[in-house]
Amino acid sequence: MTIQDYRADALRCTRCAYCKWVPLDLMKSWRFSKGCPSIEYGKFHSYSAGGRLITSLSLMDGRSTVTDKVRDSVFMCNMCGSCDVACKMCRYDMEPLLAMHELRAKLVEDGDLPEAYQPMLESLRTDYNTMGEPHERRGDWAKDLGVKDLTKTTAKYVFHAGCRYSFDGEQSEVARTAVAILKKAGLDFGIMGAAESCCGGKAFSIGVDQQLHKSADHNLAAWKKAGVDTVITACADCYYAFKRLYTQHAGSTIKVVHMVELLDQMVADGSLKMTNPVPMKVTYHDPCHLGRQGEDYVPWDGVEKKIFGQAVVYDPPRPRYNGAFGVYDAPRNVLKAIPGVELVEMERIKEGAWCCGAGGGAREGYPKFSEWTAGERIEEAESTGADALVTACPWCERNFIDAVRGAKGKLEVLDILQLVDMAL
Ligand code: SF4
Ligand code: SF4
Repeated sequence: MTIQDYRADALRCTRCAYCKWVPLDLMKSWRFSKGCPSIEYGKFHSYSAGGRLITSLSLMDGRSTVTDKVRDSVFMCNMCGSCDVACKMCRYDMEPLLAMHELRAKLVEDGDLPEAYQPMLESLRTDYNTMGEPHERRGDWAKDLGVKDLTKTTAKYVFHAGCRYSFDGEQSEVARTAVAILKKAGLDFGIMGAAESCCGGKAFSIGVDQQLHKSADHNLAAWKKAGVDTVITACADCYYAFKRLYTQHAGSTIKVVHMVELLDQMVADGSLKMTNPVPMKVTYHDPCHLGRQGEDYVPWDGVEKKIFGQAVVYDPPRPRYNGAFGVYDAPRNVLKAIPGVELVEMERIKEGAWCCGAGGGAREGYPKFSEWTAGERIEEAESTGADALVTACPWCERNFIDAVRGAKGKLEVLDILQLVDMAL
C-alpha cells in the first residue's frame, strides 16, 4: 500500500475530532476522557489522526513540504490505534491508523526519518535487535534452563522471547517464568537463542517496512526448519507482528499464542493451579498490540468504488478492525484466578485504553513525550487505589517502571507472569 491508497480516507475526514477522545460510549469522566496522547501533548491539530490526514493530502498535492515541525507531527505518535477505534465509531470504514503508517513510510522513503531512530535501525541491521546489544548474547537469559535449542533440533512450539526480555536484565526473569510455565504445561517447545531475530514490528511502526520483511523472512525460515507450527510469546509487540503483520506482509500461516491466552486455557482446564495467596489490589493495563490491535488479520482483495460519482465504497466491504475482538478476557480471567488478588479497573480499558507511551517508536524518538504518556496512565492507575499496575508486555512494563521511578512514585509495576509466579 502507499499513501495514495488512503487518499479517499483523507478526503472523507470530516474534522469531527472524534479521534482525539475515548469513544463516547466508553467515556466515564472528563479527567480520563482523552484518547490520543499525541494531541494531548502536541496541542495542535496536526498531532492528531485527523490532522495527519490533512498533512497527507497536502503533501500528496504538493501544497506543502516536510519541515522539522511536519516531521515531528508525523512521528510524535504512539501508533496506539485509539484514534482508529474512535473514528470507526462514527465513520465506519475509514482507516486513519493505516493512513498514518503510509505517511510515515513516505517520509522514510524520502529520507525524512528523524535522526533519533538511527541507533535502533543500526542495531537491527548489525545485531537483529532494537536494544543496541550484541546478538550473540540473545539467548543468555535461558542459559541454565535446559530448554531445547531449536537451531539443533525440532519442536512443535517455539517460545520467542523478543528483544526486551532477551536483553533487559531487570525483565528477563519474566521470560524465565514463561519457560517454567511452558514446562509445567508439558509442551514440546524450544527457543532459537542467539538465532532469534527481532520481530521487526518496531521498525515497521516507524515506517521502515523493509526491516519487517527481513525479520519475517529470517524468523519464518528458522521456525520452518525447526518444524514449529505455533509461536508463543509474552510480548504484545511480537504478538501483533507475528499475528497481523507476518500474516499480511509475509503470508505466514503460523499459529500465534500470547502467554496470557495459554495461562487462561490452563486455568480453565485445571492444569494451572495457583494456590499461594497474593493479597494485592491490582489494575490491568491493556497493551495496544494485544488489545485493540490484537485482532486476527482478515485478507481483503477488493476495490474502491464511487457511487453516484460521490460516495466512496469498498467492494467487497473492507474488514473492520475496531478493537472489539482484542485479547481482553484472558488476562482478566487469569488475574481473577489468583487467590487474594482484587482486580479494580481503570476508566480507560480494552479498546478505549490509554497507551503506555512506548509504542510507535516514541520511546526511542520522543522520550519526553513517551514518559509523559506513561505518567498519565500511572495517574489513572493510582486513581483506582491499586497497589500494582499489571500488564502483559515488556515495553509497557519498562515504560511504566521508568515513569514511576522518575516521579518517585509508589505504585508497583508488574508483568502478569510475575503475579502468576508468586501464586504458584
Ligand atoms: S475521527 Fe476520523 S473523520 Fe473524525 S477527524 Fe478523526 S480521522 Fe477525521
Ligand atoms: S495512534 Fe494514538 S497517539 Fe497516534 S494519533 Fe492515534 S490516538 Fe493519537
